[in-house]
Amino acid sequence: MVEPVGLRDGNVSRGGGSGELRQSNLTAILRYLRDHGPSSRHDTARGCGLGVSTMTDLVGDLRSRRLVVELDPIRRPGAGRPTRPIALDGEPWCVMGVHVELDRVHVQAATVGGTDLWHETVPAVFADDHDGAAVLAEAIARQAARVPEGHRLVAVEIAVPGFVAPDGVTVTSRALGWDGAGVGKAVRAALGELGLVAVNVGISSDFHLAGLHSARALLNDPSSTVAAYFGGVSEVGSALVVNGEIFRGAGGGAGDLAHLHVQADGPACWCGRHGCLNSVVRVQELLVTAGLRDEEEAAELVVTDPARALRLLVEGATGGDAKVQHALERAGSALGRAVDDVLGSVNPHAVILGGYLGQLAPFLMPSLDRQLRARVHEGPYADTQILVADEGAPPVTEGAVLAARDACLYDPLGLTTPLR
Ligand SMILES: [Zn+2]
Repeated sequence: MVEPVGLRDGNVSRGGGSGELRQSNLTAILRYLRDHGPSSRHDTARGCGLGVSTMTDLVGDLRSRRLVVELDPIRRPGAGRPTRPIALDGEPWCVMGVHVELDRVHVQAATVGGTDLWHETVPAVFADDHDGAAVLAEAIARQAARVPEGHRLVAVEIAVPGFVAPDGVTVTSRALGWDGAGVGKAVRAALGELGLVAVNVGISSDFHLAGLHSARALLNDPSSTVAAYFGGVSEVGSALVVNGEIFRGAGGGAGDLAHLHVQADGPACWCGRHGCLNSVVRVQELLVTAGLRDEEEAAELVVTDPARALRLLVEGATGGDAKVQHALERAGSALGRAVDDVLGSVNPHAVILGGYLGQLAPFLMPSLDRQLRARVHEGPYADTQILVADEGAPPVTEGAVLAARDACLYDPLGLTTPLR
C-alpha cells in the first residue's frame, strides 16, 4: 500500500494484521470523541462504522486504559433505557509540548485528557559551537522528571524554528544553525536514561503547530476542513491544515505560504528572495514604509519589543495617520495576492489570519478583500471564509500539546497499558 504523502498523523492504514486493525478501530473511536465531545455509544459506533459487539469490546479496552470514561446515564424523554455517554478520559497519561526558540525553551505539560499540569520557560544556549540537539534533549529530560506521581509520560512534541525531514527526527534550522541535527535520537536517548522508553517523540515546524492549534480552535468541524494559516510575532509564519492535521508535503516543507512571491522588485527577505510576502508585510518593513522608524531602528524594535512595534502601527492607523494607513493598505494588497494564489492552489474552506496579522486585520481587510474580488466570484471559492484569530503570541506550544496528545490517540496500544 502506498503511504499518503504529506499527512504524517492519523492515517493508520486499515487492513494488514489484526493488531493493526484493532489499533485503527481504537483510534477511530478516540478521534470521534475528540472531535465530537461526549457521545452515545450508538452515535460513536455509527460515526466510526463499527458494529455493536466490536464497539463493546473496544470501549472495554479503552476504559481499562483510562482513555475513555463512561459518564452518568442520560434519560431521554420518551426513550426507554437510559444511555451512558462515553467521553475521552486520558487523565493518567501525560504529554509535553516543547517550543524551541533561539535562547529558550517553553514547556507545557498536560494530561491526554486536557488537564494542565505545568508551564515553564527555561533558558537554553543553542549557539553553533554547542551540540544543540544534546542541549535540547537535556532540557526535555529535566522536565520529564517532573511528571507527577500517578501519571506517565507518553508523548513529547517539539516545535522547532525550521524544517523537519520526512524521517520525523532530524531538523534543519537556519535560525539555530542546525543542519540535519539528530534531535529525535538525542531526545529518545535522554528519556531512555530515565527509563522512559515507550514515549512518542514528535518534531514539527513551529508554525505548522501554531496553524494546527488555530485550525482546531476556530473551525466548526476541523476534521473535514482545509485551512491555510498565516501568523507570526513580527515576521510571517504559515501552515496548511488538512482535515485537522498538518499537511507536511513530500519533504516536510508544505505550507510555506509566507514566502510566496507577491512583488517582483520588493525588499530582501532572510529567505534569500526579494518581494516575498514576508519581506513586504513583516512588521519591520511596515514601520519603515509607514514612516514611524528608520530601517535600523525598526530592525532593533521588532527584536527588543515586538509588542510595542505592533502597537505603533495600530495606534497610527487608528489615529488617522495617513502614511500608516497607506502602508497597511499596501500590506493588505500583498497579503491578498498571496491569499488569492492559495485559494486557487488548495481551495481551502478557511484562511486564518493569526498573530500580528490578526491584530492588524481591521486595517488589512479592505484591500485584501479587493484583491480577492476576481477569485470569489467563481463558484468553488465563493464560500471561502477569512477568519481572524484573536491570539496574542502564535499558539506554538499549545499546538505542540495537541500534537503530542494526538500521538497517544493514534497509538493507544503502543503508548498506554491497561491499568485495571
Ligand atoms: Zn522570504
